[in-house]
Amino acid sequence: MPDTPPISLSPKGAPAPASEPTGSPELADTVHETIIIGSGPAGLTAAIYASRASLEPILIEGVLDGGPTGGQLTLTTDVENFPGFADGIMGPELIQNMRDQAARFGTTFVTEDVTSVDLTGEVKVLETASGLRLSTRSLIVATGAKPRRLEVPGEDELWGAGVSACATCDGFFFRDKQVIVVGGGDSAMEEATFLTKFASKVTVVHRRDQLRASVIMQERAFKNDRIEFVFNATVAEIKGENGLMSGVVLTDTQTGAQTELAADGLFLAIGHIPNTWLFDDVLTTDAEGYLVVDEPSTATNVPGVFACGDVMDHTYRQAVTAAGTGCRAAIDAERYLAGGHTVTAVEPEAEPTVVAS
Ligand code: NAP
Repeated sequence: MPDTPPISLSPKGAPAPASEPTGSPELADTVHETIIIGSGPAGLTAAIYASRASLEPILIEGVLDGGPTGGQLTLTTDVENFPGFADGIMGPELIQNMRDQAARFGTTFVTEDVTSVDLTGEVKVLETASGLRLSTRSLIVATGAKPRRLEVPGEDELWGAGVSACATCDGFFFRDKQVIVVGGGDSAMEEATFLTKFASKVTVVHRRDQLRASVIMQERAFKNDRIEFVFNATVAEIKGENGLMSGVVLTDTQTGAQTELAADGLFLAIGHIPNTWLFDDVLTTDAEGYLVVDEPSTATNVPGVFACGDVMDHTYRQAVTAAGTGCRAAIDAERYLAGGHTVTAVEPEAEPTVVAS
């Protein structure tokens, strides 16, 4: 692992919620053209495009509920697959660059969590933790998703010191090491297979005796002689030595027996939880809880509300794909405000409908 301090995805250690508005109170006096909630690559790209389109966006960068300000990239180290950085770039630096770029074109940042939204009228109203009430004609939701956690002893302490939820980001640091992947879905198979590029041995730990992953992904993993499987097992504890992960305690789900397994790393692939609680019962979600958009646009079921990034994408979940949808959301908002295109609300299973006016 890189020589960086352990990091935590949990709200612990995040700045306290603002008790005073971080944005100027005058922001409450105006009906804004567009407000963006979320400060990862999707939200920041939307802000760059919206500000260059003279929409004078407000970007609300939450601090607690959805993860850290700047999103999950701020929790990674080297980002080597974002185009344009031949030598790679640190995740926090990439986010800071995007933020500076959005600020340069006039984005206003409000650093506090949104606590409620009212999307019933043509003008949407948001309230923040400090009680600031903001009104907007269009809203871009870029609130991201959190990797599901095991919630076991050692997980918080060893996050970033062996424990990760992103093989693409951190696999490189496990050359010739032994790692564990937890989960039985496509992500677990994909991460395990990817990790064999680096690790000497990858052990997939799954809580049942049958994988959820597609047959093709399973077969690929079964054929890989660097991958071993431990079925009917859950991780009861993650152990560390000298601040680095050293192994896990496994519980056999059939017998309850506990065993120890030595490993240098553990990758969580047990799904993600999209950050949609602000929009419960208002914005349409799919069976897995992700916001449904009117593909190929980013329109949600509420006119004037657009979604981008991991909150609406459970397939790709890459910084570059999030940035791409952020760009699309800003263009969709601009067209909506200009009246050039009206994107109608759709129900989940219905055909997408885009009406040019
Ligand atoms: P997923 O399909 O929901 O699988 C999550 C896995 O984690 C399941 O095996 C589940 O076990 C296990 N799990 C959940 N909570 C757990 C817990 N608390 N403790 C231990 N295990 C737990 O999630 P995913 O693999 O991230 O895939 C999400 C979606 O993206 C899927 O539609 C998938 O097909 C797609 N995807 C596609 C690709 C690809 O095609 N290349 C790659 C990645 C993902 P159970 O099986 O017992 O429920």
